[in-house]
Amino acid sequence: MKPELSAPQTLVEHLPEEWEALLRQWGEPRFRALQVFRWIHQRGVLDPEQMTDLPKALRARLAEGGLAAPVEVARVLESGDGTRKLLCRLGDGREVESVLIPRGAVAAADIYAPQQDDEDGPQQGAPRAAVTQCISSQVGCAMGCSFCASGIAGLKRQMTAGEIIAQVIEGRRVLGEAARLSGVVLMGMGEPLHNYPAVARALTLLNHPEGIRMSLRRVTLSTSGLVDGIERLGRDFGGQVGLAVSVHAPADPIRTRLMPVNRRHPLQELIAALRAYPLPPHRRITVEYTLIAGINDAPEHARALCERLRGIAVKVNLIPMNPVPESPLGAPSDGAVEGFQRTLRQHGVDVFVRRRKGDDIAAACGQLALHGEKAKVRTHTG
Ligand code: SF4
Repeated sequence: MKPELSAPQTLVEHLPEEWEALLRQWGEPRFRALQVFRWIHQRGVLDPEQMTDLPKALRARLAEGGLAAPVEVARVLESGDGTRKLLCRLGDGREVESVLIPRGAVAAADIYAPQQDDEDGPQQGAPRAAVTQCISSQVGCAMGCSFCASGIAGLKRQMTAGEIIAQVIEGRRVLGEAARLSGVVLMGMGEPLHNYPAVARALTLLNHPEGIRMSLRRVTLSTSGLVDGIERLGRDFGGQVGLAVSVHAPADPIRTRLMPVNRRHPLQELIAALRAYPLPPHRRITVEYTLIAGINDAPEHARALCERLRGIAVKVNLIPMNPVPESPLGAPSDGAVEGFQRTLRQHGVDVFVRRRKGDDIAAACGQLALHGEKAKVRTHTG
């Protein structure tokens, strides 16, 4: 069940046992490893100078060794419903986005929010607002989905585990004491399973009992359907990580047109992987289905989708296409959306519609970048 992790690429992503090995080489006692790890992951301090209970010489050595924040929040954009988008600048100047979504602000946040049975016990003091954070896992994306800005632009580079986890560290800093991070969704830019080693390490860090301590049941990973990655995720994390899968079509010819990944992993193979995913009891896989005018929004598509999903614990998230200038694909009519939803319900499938209203920032994976440009936002710097 413990994932096999590749070597860390940056100091920020060291696990306690890796800190221990490194600090031993530097002649430091063993207990320093947990001290450093807690500074980074519990307290969110990435500047060695601020690690005040460490000896000066060690602080200097950490700085020389390259311990520094891998992500800088260049701007915070706030939408009217309280959703905040963080523009995160990486060391090489590239930018990715991460979004803080208060519970109830955007339908999407509630769809992926942790289920009731995953909530913490009684809270100490005044209740704090629950926030779900959406994070990115790659700069750009190689999957080439035809309805997605990132897919059209292509993959620029992989993110390191340090850069992935640093979005959460920075997100917690932006939230401060006023709100608590109750869940994380890997649904920003990129295909997380195409960067599996870094994502697996970031999940391990997120969940670590000496770090942020987020239950993996509060994490949802969104994938375009990389079957080998789904299998590996299920094996490595025992099905604890929630899964959201972009299906978008009930038949291979349509899906291949929308998502080139379907050539490599056709529907039958993908559905078999979903069926085999070791979901804990009472949990469901989220099936993402973007409704596109005249392509996949007819009643026969809805019926075929029900047929495909029969016997799998799923909820379906219908996303009316938000047209992007780079793509000729259009938005479905309200009647088509309602009809599709009705057909699914008639077949006993749980279905939600992610309305475009309030969805300006929290879009499906990779649509973040584009939607962000259109969002009506107040701009903060810092
Ligand atoms: S929709 Fe997701 S998987 Fe597809 S190209 Fe966009 S970011 Fe990549």
